[in-house]
Amino acid sequence: MLIDGVNDPVVSFARHHLHNDDGGIDGERMFASVVGDGVVAVASEQSKMVYGQLRRELALFLPVGLFIAAFIVVMVVVFSRGRLSPRAELEFAIQKRQFIVHYQPIVELATGICVGAEALVRWRRRDGSLVRPDLFIPLAEETGLIVAITDQVLDEVVRELKTVLVGDRGLHIAINLSAADIKSGRFIDMIAEKLQHTGIRNEQIWLEATERGFIDVDAARANLDRARRAGHSIAIDDFGTGYSSLQYLQGLPVDALKIDKSFIDTIERGAATSSVTLHIIEMAKELGLFSVAEGVETEAQAAYLREHGVSFGQGWLFSKPLAAKDLIEFRDASVAQFGKAPEIIRADKW
Ligand code: C2E
Ligand code: CA
Ligand code: CA
Repeated sequence: MLIDGVNDPVVSFARHHLHNDDGGIDGERMFASVVGDGVVAVASEQSKMVYGQLRRELALFLPVGLFIAAFIVVMVVVFSRGRLSPRAELEFAIQKRQFIVHYQPIVELATGICVGAEALVRWRRRDGSLVRPDLFIPLAEETGLIVAITDQVLDEVVRELKTVLVGDRGLHIAINLSAADIKSGRFIDMIAEKLQHTGIRNEQIWLEATERGFIDVDAARANLDRARRAGHSIAIDDFGTGYSSLQYLQGLPVDALKIDKSFIDTIERGAATSSVTLHIIEMAKELGLFSVAEGVETEAQAAYLREHGVSFGQGWLFSKPLAAKDLIEFRDASVAQFGKAPEIIRADKW
């Protein structure tokens, strides 16, 4: 713009800023000027017009900006979750109660009656996939998180099976205890608390303890004794796979031995270890305990176990682990075919 003597507000601005490149606010106007070869270019606008425009742009772009920022934050969280340590992932799963329980029926071999089921935990991840317990139980035991998982399993048993357990006192659910549970004994009060006001009896909750839980044998004996006196029946799980079987067995207050699948597998094959299977069966009888055969897959195995006086069986021959509603169906069909189970199944020796 050429500067002449015209009394224009823009020109009067320009007169103030003739000699340098400049810009800023002067009174109510905003301006910018550039000095060239004998020429000064000046742009000027009322401040309130500029601010008005700015506010309109802010109203448009601020929400968009916030949305993009939030999206980035969410993506970072999701991405970093996927990369949590296995322990942190397990903690998250506990916090979000991502555990579900399947139930594998236990049948009386002589009659076919369904006397109960074993509660087997599964981890249902956010994508819907199920993780097998042997992939996370060892880590849960190592980190002490197992205790919270035992609690959640019992919560599920109560929630899903309360009605059927109250309606049929001959039905039992076996819960797997961890070594930490057996050592501390905390599970006894935990179960009592969770069964309170449900109508489920302590006698309907069986407990399975592995030999890993007996390292501190005095604590184990005291806690199992207390659990039995509260009404629970106790089975030694995976029997025969540990080292010190006979040593501690006589002094432990238990009702049943669960014969590990690896011994049941040898039955038809006539393998040398099948004589060990027979030995375990005899030992249970001599000690006045029930035996439960795990992983029974064929009719020949069932016939052999029946013939040798094994009381109960569990395995794919009878059923795979089932969701609660399918277990109830299985049990109803079993009652229709073979009748109901007796109320209490306990070893008489104690
Ligand atoms: P377990 O207590 O010895 O459970 C028996 C396992 O054998 C189950 O595997 C069951 O699905 C499987 N099984 C049963 N019948 C058959 C059969 O006929 N053939 C074959 N091939 N397998 C059969 P699952 O459910 O994968 O459980 C694995 C282990 O994880 C359990 O072994 C138990 O030690 C542990 N576990 C499961 N649920 C819990 C829980 O709630 N707490 C704790 N502490 N441990 C658990
Ligand atoms: Ca078990
Ligand atoms: Ca077992």
